[in-house]
Amino acid sequence: MIVMKINNLKFILSEKSLLHYQPFPKPNLESFDSALRVQMAEKHLRRKGMITEETLIQARKAREEDILLVHSPYLLDSVKLMSELGSGEVGDAAYASPDLMRSAIYTVGGALQAVESVVKGKEINTFTLMRPPGHHASTSNPMGLCYFNNIAIAVEFARRHLGVEKVSIIDFDDHFGNGTAEIFYSNPNVQYISLHEYDYENFGQGHYEEIGHGEGEGTNINIPLVDGAPDESYKAAIDEIVIPSVKSFDPEVIAISAGYDAHYADPVGNMAVDTTTFWYIGKTVRSLVESTKAKGSFWILEGGYNPLMIGPSIEASMDGLLGKPLQVMEDQIERVTPEPIIDANHEAIARVFETVNTYW
Ligand SMILES: [Zn+2]
Repeated sequence: MIVMKINNLKFILSEKSLLHYQPFPKPNLESFDSALRVQMAEKHLRRKGMITEETLIQARKAREEDILLVHSPYLLDSVKLMSELGSGEVGDAAYASPDLMRSAIYTVGGALQAVESVVKGKEINTFTLMRPPGHHASTSNPMGLCYFNNIAIAVEFARRHLGVEKVSIIDFDDHFGNGTAEIFYSNPNVQYISLHEYDYENFGQGHYEEIGHGEGEGTNINIPLVDGAPDESYKAAIDEIVIPSVKSFDPEVIAISAGYDAHYADPVGNMAVDTTTFWYIGKTVRSLVESTKAKGSFWILEGGYNPLMIGPSIEASMDGLLGKPLQVMEDQIERVTPEPIIDANHEAIARVFETVNTYW
């Protein structure tokens, strides 16, 4: 019997997450992760009535022992030390500023509250609208604007302290969440599903043949899509891979690495979706919460670097999650995707299906 779960959504925020900056005087990749993107998103969601005093939770500070649930003491110490120094490179494309540690530790705290509220049954859905993001941070390496892996820490916190065993993580950020994949690669109780941009000419991490290791075999599901993937490719990947994978795994809670940089107007990602896809992802998560053991979903902000699009993109995904119809938004304009891109993505999804369906 399908039990209809109540519509409910809380946002977790803290001004502390605005303090850190990527110290670059000229616009480049790193400078795109700025406080502005979160401020613009918050402003938009307040204007739309999604964030109100009733739907807002102030983030708490995480403890260092929480960070050590998935990271090495080496990583924690290097972030702390570089933050005290106030500048320098902590990892590849991950730079320090004087308030790095403060922003990062509150963002982890926000992620812990997100999972705790859902698992304890206080909320059905939560969204942590904070930065820096986390999915590129592995056990010992900060990289790609990420220092602490917020979502991995939250998942491990739930498993160690809240009595949860099985969690599915769906990561729809434009980029492969290499850190999250690494952390849970041998873990049979954490399913990691990532939809991401992939360069088949220069093989790197994120290929569909990376399926997990040992007992974790079959729980790492990579959906590597080709540059320029449109809404229809994302929809096919969700319908053919994401939905059956999560249903067969039957998690107790669903974690979402919510990156909005696959939007066609994003300055960093190279995909071609609009808010229609983000709405569809929300709608999918809703149906997965209704059709599995999951008590609810918690969403942790990852990428999304167009300050004008991140608010509407989050709004669309939350509309889907709350069972609302797709709104007509300004970015939903007619766009043409070259046939070879559609074909290449179709082919990629077929290969993923062949690789992972034996585990369902
Ligand atoms: Zn990204």
